[in-house]
Amino acid sequence: MKNFLLLATLFFSVQGMAQPTTKLHRRAVLVDTHNDVLSSSVLEGKDISQRLTTGQSDFERWKEGGLDVQFFSIWTDRTPRNKAGFFKDANQEIDSLEIIALRNPSRMALATNYKQVRKGIRQKKLVGLIGVEGGHMIEDDLKKLDSLQRRGMRYMTLTWNNSTSWATSAMDETQHPDSLPQIGLTEFGKKVVRRMNELGVIVDLSHTGERTFYDALATTSRPVLLSHSSVWNICPVFRNVKDDQIKAVAKNGGVICINFYSGFLDSNFAKKMDQLEGTEGKRIKDSIGQNVDAAKLNEIWAKYFSTELEPYRPSISKLVDHIDYIVKLVGDDYAGIGSDFDGVSSVPVGMDDVTKYPLITEELKRRGYSNKSIKKILGGNVMRVMKANFK
Ligand SMILES: [Zn+2]
Repeated sequence: MKNFLLLATLFFSVQGMAQPTTKLHRRAVLVDTHNDVLSSSVLEGKDISQRLTTGQSDFERWKEGGLDVQFFSIWTDRTPRNKAGFFKDANQEIDSLEIIALRNPSRMALATNYKQVRKGIRQKKLVGLIGVEGGHMIEDDLKKLDSLQRRGMRYMTLTWNNSTSWATSAMDETQHPDSLPQIGLTEFGKKVVRRMNELGVIVDLSHTGERTFYDALATTSRPVLLSHSSVWNICPVFRNVKDDQIKAVAKNGGVICINFYSGFLDSNFAKKMDQLEGTEGKRIKDSIGQNVDAAKLNEIWAKYFSTELEPYRPSISKLVDHIDYIVKLVGDDYAGIGSDFDGVSSVPVGMDDVTKYPLITEELKRRGYSNKSIKKILGGNVMRVMKANFK
Protein backbone atom coordinates (compact mmCIF):
# COMPACT_ATOMS: atom_id res chain seq x y z
CA MET A 1 0.00 0.00 0.00
CA LYS A 2 2.78 2.30 0.97
CA ASN A 3 4.50 1.55 -2.32
CA PHE A 4 1.29 2.13 -4.18
CA LEU A 5 0.89 5.55 -2.59
CA LEU A 6 4.46 6.42 -3.41
CA LEU A 7 3.95 5.33 -7.00
CA ALA A 8 0.66 7.20 -7.22
CA THR A 9 2.28 10.35 -5.86
CA LEU A 10 5.13 10.03 -8.32
CA PHE A 11 2.69 9.38 -11.18
CA PHE A 12 0.58 12.43 -10.42
CA SER A 13 3.55 14.69 -9.86
CA VAL A 14 5.09 13.65 -13.20
CA GLN A 15 1.70 14.07 -14.88
CA GLY A 16 1.35 17.37 -13.12
CA MET A 17 4.61 18.52 -14.62
CA ALA A 18 4.07 17.26 -18.14
CA GLN A 19 0.41 17.83 -18.73
CA PRO A 20 -0.01 21.59 -18.39
CA THR A 21 2.83 22.18 -20.85
CA THR A 22 1.41 19.70 -23.35
CA LYS A 23 -2.02 21.27 -22.96
CA LEU A 24 -0.55 24.75 -23.36
CA HIS A 25 1.34 23.65 -26.49
CA ARG A 26 -1.83 22.13 -28.00
CA ARG A 27 -3.93 25.17 -27.20
CA ALA A 28 -1.40 27.71 -28.47
CA VAL A 29 -1.38 28.61 -32.15
CA LEU A 30 1.97 27.36 -33.41
CA VAL A 31 3.27 29.11 -36.52
CA ASP A 32 6.50 28.16 -38.28
CA THR A 33 7.55 30.77 -40.82
CA HIS A 34 10.05 28.70 -42.79
CA ASN A 35 10.12 25.13 -44.10
CA ASP A 36 11.92 23.95 -47.23
CA VAL A 37 10.12 20.64 -47.73
CA LEU A 38 8.85 21.66 -51.19
CA SER A 39 12.26 22.18 -52.75
CA SER A 40 14.13 19.52 -50.77
CA SER A 41 11.55 16.75 -50.74
CA VAL A 42 8.38 17.26 -52.78
CA LEU A 43 10.14 18.27 -55.99
CA GLU A 44 12.33 15.20 -55.50
CA GLY A 45 9.19 13.08 -55.72
CA LYS A 46 8.57 12.37 -52.01
CA ASP A 47 4.98 12.13 -50.79
CA ILE A 48 4.47 14.03 -47.54
CA SER A 49 0.95 12.66 -47.16
CA GLN A 50 2.73 9.45 -46.09
CA ARG A 51 4.83 9.25 -42.95
CA LEU A 52 8.40 9.52 -44.20
CA THR A 53 11.49 7.99 -42.65
CA THR A 54 13.73 10.60 -44.26
CA GLY A 55 13.58 14.39 -44.01
CA GLN A 56 12.02 16.36 -41.18
CA SER A 57 8.43 17.04 -42.21
CA ASP A 58 5.20 15.36 -43.30
CA PHE A 59 1.50 15.71 -42.37
CA GLU A 60 1.49 13.07 -39.67
CA ARG A 61 4.54 14.49 -37.95
CA TRP A 62 3.24 18.09 -38.21
CA LYS A 63 0.13 16.94 -36.36
CA GLU A 64 2.23 15.31 -33.65
CA GLY A 65 4.28 18.47 -33.20
CA GLY A 66 1.10 20.53 -32.80
CA LEU A 67 1.80 22.77 -35.77
CA ASP A 68 -1.09 24.99 -36.91
CA VAL A 69 0.36 27.28 -39.56
CA GLN A 70 3.25 26.71 -41.95
CA PHE A 71 4.82 29.12 -44.39
CA PHE A 72 6.18 26.96 -47.21
CA SER A 73 9.35 28.33 -48.71
CA ILE A 74 9.34 28.71 -52.49
CA TRP A 75 13.05 28.62 -53.19
CA THR A 76 15.27 28.28 -56.17
CA ASP A 77 19.03 28.47 -56.36
CA ARG A 78 21.08 31.19 -58.07
CA THR A 79 20.96 29.03 -61.20
CA PRO A 80 17.35 28.27 -62.17
CA ARG A 81 15.99 24.72 -62.39
CA ASN A 82 14.01 25.54 -65.55
CA LYS A 83 15.55 26.99 -68.67
CA ALA A 84 12.72 29.54 -68.63
CA GLY A 85 14.13 30.99 -65.39
CA PHE A 86 13.47 31.73 -61.72
CA PHE A 87 9.88 32.90 -62.15
CA LYS A 88 9.00 29.61 -63.82
CA ASP A 89 10.71 27.76 -60.95
CA ALA A 90 8.62 29.65 -58.40
CA ASN A 91 5.38 28.90 -60.24
CA GLN A 92 6.24 25.23 -60.55
CA GLU A 93 6.87 25.02 -56.83
CA ILE A 94 3.58 26.77 -56.05
CA ASP A 95 1.89 24.21 -58.35
CA SER A 96 3.39 21.43 -56.23
CA LEU A 97 2.01 22.97 -53.02
CA GLU A 98 -1.44 23.38 -54.58
CA ILE A 99 -1.43 19.73 -55.64
CA ILE A 100 -0.57 18.67 -52.07
CA ALA A 101 -3.43 20.80 -50.72
CA LEU A 102 -5.88 19.38 -53.28
CA ARG A 103 -4.90 15.82 -52.39
CA ASN A 104 -5.18 16.43 -48.64
CA PRO A 105 -8.32 18.54 -48.18
CA SER A 106 -9.09 17.16 -44.73
CA ARG A 107 -5.59 17.89 -43.44
CA MET A 108 -4.58 21.12 -45.09
CA ALA A 109 -6.00 24.48 -46.11
CA LEU A 110 -4.08 27.03 -48.14
CA ALA A 111 -4.71 30.58 -46.97
CA THR A 112 -4.20 33.97 -48.54
CA ASN A 113 -5.87 36.22 -45.95
CA TYR A 114 -6.09 36.47 -42.19
CA LYS A 115 -9.67 35.21 -42.02
CA GLN A 116 -8.73 32.04 -43.88
CA VAL A 117 -5.79 31.50 -41.54
CA ARG A 118 -8.10 31.69 -38.50
CA LYS A 119 -10.68 29.44 -40.18
CA GLY A 120 -8.10 26.76 -40.97
CA ILE A 121 -6.85 26.82 -37.37
CA ARG A 122 -10.43 26.44 -36.08
CA GLN A 123 -10.93 23.46 -38.40
CA LYS A 124 -7.75 21.92 -36.97
CA LYS A 125 -6.13 21.76 -40.38
CA LEU A 126 -2.57 22.67 -41.19
CA VAL A 127 -2.81 26.16 -42.66
CA GLY A 128 -0.40 26.52 -45.55
CA LEU A 129 0.92 29.89 -46.69
CA ILE A 130 3.33 30.76 -49.47
CA GLY A 131 6.62 32.49 -48.70
CA VAL A 132 8.95 33.22 -51.60
CA GLU A 133 12.62 32.98 -50.66
CA GLY A 134 14.67 35.24 -52.87
CA GLY A 135 13.77 38.43 -54.74
CA HIS A 136 15.49 36.98 -57.82
CA MET A 137 12.25 35.10 -58.52
CA ILE A 138 10.48 38.29 -59.68
CA GLU A 139 13.19 38.75 -62.32
CA ASP A 140 13.36 42.56 -61.84
CA ASP A 141 9.71 42.87 -62.90
CA LEU A 142 6.91 44.31 -60.73
CA LYS A 143 4.35 42.49 -62.89
CA LYS A 144 5.88 39.20 -61.79
CA LEU A 145 5.67 40.35 -58.17
CA ASP A 146 1.96 41.03 -58.73
CA SER A 147 1.55 37.67 -60.41
CA LEU A 148 3.15 35.75 -57.53
CA GLN A 149 0.96 37.67 -55.08
CA ARG A 150 -2.11 36.57 -57.06
CA ARG A 151 -0.88 33.00 -56.75
CA GLY A 152 -0.82 33.40 -52.98
CA MET A 153 2.65 34.69 -52.06
CA ARG A 154 2.33 36.31 -48.62
CA TYR A 155 5.96 37.00 -47.84
CA MET A 156 9.07 37.45 -49.91
CA THR A 157 12.66 37.66 -48.68
CA LEU A 158 14.16 40.55 -50.63
CA THR A 159 17.23 38.39 -51.29
CA TRP A 160 18.43 34.86 -50.73
CA ASN A 161 22.23 34.39 -50.39
CA ASN A 162 22.49 35.96 -53.84
CA SER A 163 21.90 39.69 -54.32
CA THR A 164 19.49 40.99 -56.93
CA SER A 165 20.11 44.04 -59.10
CA TRP A 166 18.02 46.00 -56.55
CA ALA A 167 18.91 44.53 -53.11
CA THR A 168 22.13 43.19 -51.61
CA SER A 169 22.30 40.03 -49.53
CA ALA A 170 23.94 39.39 -46.15
CA MET A 171 26.37 37.01 -47.83
CA ASP A 172 27.48 39.51 -50.49
CA GLU A 173 27.53 42.53 -48.17
CA THR A 174 29.80 40.70 -45.72
CA GLN A 175 31.88 38.47 -47.98
CA HIS A 176 32.16 40.22 -51.35
CA PRO A 177 31.26 43.90 -50.82
CA ASP A 178 33.79 45.05 -53.42
CA SER A 179 32.15 43.00 -56.15
CA LEU A 180 28.81 44.79 -55.71
CA PRO A 181 27.80 47.59 -58.09
CA GLN A 182 25.76 49.16 -55.26
CA ILE A 183 24.91 48.30 -51.66
CA GLY A 184 21.45 48.36 -50.07
CA LEU A 185 18.15 48.96 -51.86
CA THR A 186 18.04 50.80 -55.19
CA GLU A 187 15.13 53.06 -56.18
CA PHE A 188 13.57 50.04 -57.88
CA GLY A 189 14.14 48.05 -54.68
CA LYS A 190 12.19 50.67 -52.74
CA LYS A 191 9.40 50.37 -55.32
CA VAL A 192 9.36 46.62 -54.73
CA VAL A 193 8.97 47.15 -50.97
CA ARG A 194 6.18 49.70 -51.42
CA ARG A 195 4.39 47.44 -53.89
CA MET A 196 4.65 44.54 -51.42
CA ASN A 197 3.04 46.76 -48.78
CA GLU A 198 0.20 47.62 -51.20
CA LEU A 199 -0.33 43.98 -52.12
CA GLY A 200 -0.32 42.68 -48.55
CA VAL A 201 2.91 40.71 -48.98
CA ILE A 202 5.08 40.75 -45.84
CA VAL A 203 8.57 42.17 -46.36
CA ASP A 204 10.89 39.41 -45.14
CA LEU A 205 14.38 40.58 -44.22
CA SER A 206 16.02 37.22 -43.55
CA HIS A 207 19.06 36.83 -45.83
CA THR A 208 19.34 40.55 -46.59
CA GLY A 209 22.49 42.49 -45.82
CA GLU A 210 22.44 45.16 -43.11
CA ARG A 211 22.28 48.00 -45.61
CA THR A 212 19.31 46.46 -47.39
CA PHE A 213 17.76 45.72 -43.99
CA TYR A 214 17.86 49.36 -42.86
CA ASP A 215 16.85 50.71 -46.28
CA ALA A 216 13.84 48.40 -46.29
CA LEU A 217 12.85 49.39 -42.75
CA ALA A 218 13.02 53.06 -43.78
CA THR A 219 10.76 52.30 -46.76
CA THR A 220 8.13 49.87 -45.50
CA SER A 221 4.87 51.11 -44.04
CA ARG A 222 4.09 47.73 -42.45
CA PRO A 223 5.70 45.47 -39.84
CA VAL A 224 8.43 43.24 -41.26
CA LEU A 225 9.30 39.61 -40.71
CA LEU A 226 12.59 37.79 -40.44
CA SER A 227 11.31 34.34 -41.30
CA HIS A 228 14.43 32.35 -40.34
CA SER A 229 17.23 34.27 -38.64
CA SER A 230 18.98 33.96 -35.28
CA VAL A 231 20.96 36.20 -32.93
CA TRP A 232 24.41 37.54 -33.86
CA ASN A 233 25.49 38.20 -30.29
CA ILE A 234 25.16 34.49 -29.45
CA CYS A 235 26.48 33.20 -32.76
CA PRO A 236 28.24 35.84 -34.86
CA VAL A 237 27.67 34.61 -38.41
CA PHE A 238 26.66 36.68 -41.43
CA ARG A 239 23.02 35.50 -41.49
CA ASN A 240 22.24 36.48 -37.89
CA VAL A 241 20.89 39.81 -36.60
CA LYS A 242 22.73 42.25 -34.38
CA ASP A 243 21.29 44.05 -31.35
CA ASP A 244 20.58 47.27 -33.25
CA GLN A 245 18.73 45.29 -35.90
CA ILE A 246 16.65 43.55 -33.24
CA LYS A 247 15.80 46.91 -31.70
CA ALA A 248 14.90 48.30 -35.13
CA VAL A 249 12.53 45.37 -35.79
CA ALA A 250 10.88 45.95 -32.41
CA LYS A 251 10.41 49.63 -33.23
CA ASN A 252 8.80 48.62 -36.53
CA GLY A 253 6.48 46.15 -34.75
CA GLY A 254 7.90 43.21 -36.70
CA VAL A 255 9.02 39.76 -35.60
CA ILE A 256 12.22 37.68 -35.75
CA CYS A 257 11.66 33.94 -36.10
CA ILE A 258 14.56 31.86 -34.86
CA ASN A 259 16.30 29.53 -37.32
CA PHE A 260 17.09 26.07 -35.88
CA TYR A 261 20.27 25.49 -37.92
CA SER A 262 23.14 24.47 -35.60
CA GLY A 263 25.55 26.71 -37.53
CA PHE A 264 23.38 29.78 -36.79
CA LEU A 265 22.75 28.85 -33.13
CA ASP A 266 26.13 27.83 -31.76
CA SER A 267 29.42 29.62 -32.37
CA ASN A 268 31.51 26.49 -31.60
CA PHE A 269 29.60 24.55 -34.25
CA ALA A 270 30.03 27.45 -36.70
CA LYS A 271 33.79 27.65 -35.96
CA LYS A 272 34.29 23.91 -36.44
CA MET A 273 32.39 24.10 -39.71
CA ASP A 274 34.60 26.95 -40.92
CA GLN A 275 37.68 24.87 -40.09
CA LEU A 276 36.32 21.87 -41.96
CA GLU A 277 35.42 23.98 -44.97
CA GLY A 278 38.81 25.70 -44.87
CA THR A 279 42.37 24.43 -44.57
CA GLU A 280 41.59 21.38 -42.41
CA GLY A 281 39.07 20.17 -44.96
CA LYS A 282 41.41 20.75 -47.87
CA ARG A 283 44.16 18.76 -46.16
CA ILE A 284 41.84 15.84 -45.46
CA LYS A 285 40.27 15.88 -48.92
CA ASP A 286 43.72 15.89 -50.51
CA SER A 287 44.76 12.89 -48.48
CA ILE A 288 41.63 10.86 -49.38
CA GLY A 289 41.49 12.11 -52.94
CA GLN A 290 44.63 10.39 -54.14
CA ASN A 291 43.00 6.96 -54.07
CA VAL A 292 39.35 7.51 -55.13
CA ASP A 293 37.23 9.10 -57.88
CA ALA A 294 35.35 12.40 -57.38
CA ALA A 295 31.95 10.84 -56.54
CA LYS A 296 33.46 8.56 -53.92
CA LEU A 297 35.47 11.44 -52.51
CA ASN A 298 32.28 13.50 -52.08
CA GLU A 299 30.57 10.60 -50.35
CA ILE A 300 33.45 9.98 -47.93
CA TRP A 301 33.81 13.70 -47.30
CA ALA A 302 30.10 14.23 -46.53
CA LYS A 303 30.23 11.42 -43.99
CA TYR A 304 33.43 12.71 -42.42
CA PHE A 305 32.01 16.24 -42.29
CA SER A 306 28.85 15.25 -40.43
CA THR A 307 30.68 12.85 -38.08
CA GLU A 308 33.19 15.56 -37.13
CA LEU A 309 30.43 18.09 -36.50
CA GLU A 310 28.18 15.76 -34.51
CA PRO A 311 29.80 16.47 -31.08
CA TYR A 312 29.37 20.21 -31.70
CA ARG A 313 25.61 20.08 -32.19
CA PRO A 314 23.96 22.48 -29.73
CA SER A 315 21.26 21.65 -27.19
CA ILE A 316 17.63 22.73 -27.35
CA SER A 317 18.48 25.05 -24.50
CA LYS A 318 20.86 26.91 -26.83
CA LEU A 319 18.04 27.33 -29.34
CA VAL A 320 15.83 28.80 -26.63
CA ASP A 321 18.70 31.12 -25.58
CA HIS A 322 18.15 32.93 -28.89
CA ILE A 323 14.47 33.47 -28.15
CA ASP A 324 15.34 34.49 -24.60
CA TYR A 325 17.92 36.98 -25.84
CA ILE A 326 15.39 38.81 -28.01
CA VAL A 327 12.82 38.79 -25.20
CA LYS A 328 15.32 40.23 -22.70
CA LEU A 329 16.51 42.88 -25.18
CA VAL A 330 13.18 44.16 -26.52
CA GLY A 331 10.30 42.22 -24.93
CA ASP A 332 8.18 39.19 -25.75
CA ASP A 333 6.36 40.67 -28.76
CA TYR A 334 9.13 40.21 -31.30
CA ALA A 335 10.31 36.58 -31.28
CA GLY A 336 8.91 33.59 -33.15
CA ILE A 337 9.68 30.20 -34.69
CA GLY A 338 11.25 29.88 -38.17
CA SER A 339 12.77 26.40 -38.08
CA ASP A 340 14.15 26.04 -41.62
CA PHE A 341 13.31 22.33 -41.28
CA ASP A 342 14.16 20.36 -44.41
CA GLY A 343 16.49 23.15 -45.45
CA VAL A 344 19.33 22.62 -42.96
CA SER A 345 21.86 19.85 -42.50
CA SER A 346 22.09 20.00 -38.69
CA VAL A 347 19.67 20.88 -35.88
CA PRO A 348 20.06 20.81 -32.07
CA VAL A 349 20.25 17.41 -30.38
CA GLY A 350 16.70 16.20 -29.75
CA MET A 351 15.11 18.72 -32.16
CA ASP A 352 15.28 16.19 -34.96
CA ASP A 353 12.04 16.90 -36.79
CA VAL A 354 8.69 18.69 -36.65
CA THR A 355 7.37 16.40 -33.90
CA LYS A 356 9.75 18.13 -31.46
CA TYR A 357 8.28 21.65 -31.27
CA PRO A 358 6.74 20.88 -27.83
CA LEU A 359 10.28 20.72 -26.39
CA ILE A 360 10.59 24.47 -26.99
CA THR A 361 7.39 25.07 -25.04
CA GLU A 362 8.73 22.90 -22.22
CA GLU A 363 12.02 24.75 -22.11
CA LEU A 364 10.31 28.16 -22.07
CA LYS A 365 8.04 26.96 -19.26
CA ARG A 366 11.05 25.62 -17.35
CA ARG A 367 12.62 29.06 -17.60
CA GLY A 368 9.59 30.61 -15.98
CA TYR A 369 7.90 32.09 -19.04
CA SER A 370 4.19 32.83 -18.55
CA ASN A 371 1.61 31.07 -20.72
CA LYS A 372 0.82 34.42 -22.30
CA SER A 373 4.45 34.99 -23.34
CA ILE A 374 4.80 31.45 -24.67
CA LYS A 375 1.69 31.84 -26.81
CA LYS A 376 3.07 35.03 -28.33
CA ILE A 377 6.40 33.36 -29.14
CA LEU A 378 4.86 30.18 -30.56
CA GLY A 379 2.65 32.07 -32.99
CA GLY A 380 0.86 35.11 -31.60
CA ASN A 381 3.54 37.53 -32.71
CA VAL A 382 3.58 36.27 -36.29
CA MET A 383 -0.24 36.30 -36.35
CA ARG A 384 -0.09 39.99 -35.40
CA VAL A 385 2.33 40.73 -38.26
CA MET A 386 0.17 38.77 -40.72
CA LYS A 387 -2.91 40.69 -39.66
CA ALA A 388 -1.10 44.01 -40.08
CA ASN A 389 0.03 43.10 -43.61
CA PHE A 390 -2.57 40.90 -45.28
CA LYS A 391 -5.40 42.44 -47.28
ZN1 LIG B 1 17.07 30.57 -46.20
